[in-house]
Amino acid sequence: MEAPPPPPSTNKLQQQEFTLASVTDLTSSSSSSPSPSSAVATFSCVNEVTELRFQESESAHGFTFDLSSTQLFKLGQLQFICVSHNSDSVKEDAFSRGVVIKFSDEKESKVFSNSFEEWRKDSVGKGSSLPNGTVSDGKSKFDDKIEAASAKMYFHYYGQLLHQQNMLQDYVRTGTYHAAVMENRSDFAGRVVVDVGAGSGILSMFAALAGAKHVYAVEASEMADYARKLIAGNPLLAERITVIKGKIEDIELPEKADVLISEPMGTLLVNERMLETYVIARDRFLSPNGKMFPTVGRIHMAPFSDELLFMEMANKALFWQQQNYYGVDLTPLYASAHQGYFSQPVVDAFDPRLLVAPPMFHVIDFTQMKEEQFYEIDVPLKFTASVCGRVHGLACWFDVLFDGSTVQRWFTTAPGAPTTHWYQIRCVLSQPIHVMAGQELTGRLHLVAHSAQSYTINLTLSAKMWGPGANQGGILQTSSCKLDLKEPYYRMSQPQVYPVAQETPAQPQDIQIQSDDLEELELLQQNANAQL
Ligand code: SAH
Repeated sequence: MEAPPPPPSTNKLQQQEFTLASVTDLTSSSSSSPSPSSAVATFSCVNEVTELRFQESESAHGFTFDLSSTQLFKLGQLQFICVSHNSDSVKEDAFSRGVVIKFSDEKESKVFSNSFEEWRKDSVGKGSSLPNGTVSDGKSKFDDKIEAASAKMYFHYYGQLLHQQNMLQDYVRTGTYHAAVMENRSDFAGRVVVDVGAGSGILSMFAALAGAKHVYAVEASEMADYARKLIAGNPLLAERITVIKGKIEDIELPEKADVLISEPMGTLLVNERMLETYVIARDRFLSPNGKMFPTVGRIHMAPFSDELLFMEMANKALFWQQQNYYGVDLTPLYASAHQGYFSQPVVDAFDPRLLVAPPMFHVIDFTQMKEEQFYEIDVPLKFTASVCGRVHGLACWFDVLFDGSTVQRWFTTAPGAPTTHWYQIRCVLSQPIHVMAGQELTGRLHLVAHSAQSYTINLTLSAKMWGPGANQGGILQTSSCKLDLKEPYYRMSQPQVYPVAQETPAQPQDIQIQSDDLEELELLQQNANAQL
C-alpha cells in the first residue's frame, strides 16, 4: 500500500528579528576592504521562500540569503559565519556568498542559532524558488541521481529492525567484520572512525570495542533512532559514539576521520549504489592517509551450465502459450513473458561444480575509485572451458578485502564457501551456447547504473570456432541478454540439489588465493585484461 502524500506545507514560523553587534560581508564587490557595521538579521517567508536578511543599521546596504542553500558555522560563542551556496555552478559568475556575524549577547546568539535550524528545516521542506520559476525541494547530491520513490522505499526498508536483524544474523558477514576489526586493533585504537551507513550501529560498537577514540555513526534511515537506543544501552561504548541521522552526502562532521568502516555491498557488489556513498564519505571525511574497512572489492565471474534452472525459467513463460484460457488466447503475450523472465538475474546458492570454466575477477579499489566511475562498469570477459556442455549464462559473486595493518582478511560470497545473505547471482541466457573442453569463451559484462539505486546488466558471451576452421578465427555462436539487477528472481525457496564435499571439475581459483596481496591482484587482473 502506498503511503499517503504529506499534507501541503503551511508556514507556522513567525517573522523573527535579531540585533547583531556587527556584520561583515566577505564577498563584498567593492574594491575597499569590507568593514563591520551593526545590523539586524530577519528570518521571514516571502512568496513561499524562507529567507534570512541582513540589514546594516547605518546604511541602506542589505543582503538576503535563501535559507534552503545557506549554512551556518559557529566560530565562537558570539560569532558565526553564514555561507550561501550558489548551486548554479555552471555559470562562471555564480559565486557563493558569505558573511561573518557577531552578537554582543550570548543568549541572543543561542536563540539565533536555534532559530536558524528551525527556519532552515522549514525551507528544505518547502522548497525554494529557482530563477526559472520552478520550485526545487532542497535536493542534495544523493537526490540528484536517485529517484525519490526509490530512496523512500530503500530507507523505509533499512529503517525496520527485522531487516537489520537479517544482516546481523548473517554470521559469516558480521563475524568477518568483527574479526577484521579486532585483529587490527592498532588501526582503531585512539583513532577517529566514521561508520558509513551505520544501521543498528553494530560496526560503530565494534570500532569502539577495538579502542576507537570517537566514532561517528552516520545513518540516513529511521534506524538511527534505534541505533541511539542500542548504543545508549552499552554505556562503556556510548561515550565514544555519536549517532548522526542523515545522508553521508548531506551531513557535516566536526573532524576528519582516520578510518572509515562500512558495509556498503549489494548483490553483485554494486547493487544499491551504496559504494558511491562510501567513496563520497572517503572524499568528504577521510584524512589523506586514512584506512578503509573494507579496502577493495572484487566481482568474480564464470560461465555455468544448469539445465534445471534453464528449464525452470523457460517453463514459467509456457503459461502464456495457452490458446484457450477460459476461452481466451494468451499467446500474444508469450514472447514478452519469456523475455520478462530472462531479464531477471537469479539469486540463489549454487553448486560450484556447475561452473564450466575457472572464474576471472574485476577489481574495484574503494580507496581509488571515483564516484562517477561507478556509473558505468565495463568488464571484458575471457574464459577457457574446462568441461564440455551447454553454457546457460554467467555466474557472479564478490569478495572484499580488509587490508588491516596487522591482518589482511577476505570476506567471500563464493559458491561452495559458507553461504551469506547475498548468495550468488546468475545471469541466464535465453539462447545457451555449446562448448567443448579447452574452448575459449569471450564476451562483455556491461553494467549501467540507474536512478532506482541499481544497474542494468548487459551480458554478451561468444564461443570461438572449434575444430576444423578454428584457425580462421571466426565466431561461431554469440548470445546476449539484458537484465535489471533491481528485479532479481529469488530462488531460495527451491529445493537445492547440492551434495557437498565432492571433487569439483572447475573449482574457483580465487578461494585459494585469499592471502594474495593487492598488488598481485591488480597484476593478475591487468594480465587477464591484456590477454584479451
Ligand atoms: N552497518 C550496518 C548496516 C549496513 S546496511 C551493519 O553492518 O549491520 C547499510 C546501511 O546504510 C542501511 O542502514 C542504510 O539505511 C544506510 N545508508 C545507505 N545509504 C546511505 C547514505 N547515503 N547515507 C547514510 N546512510 C546510508
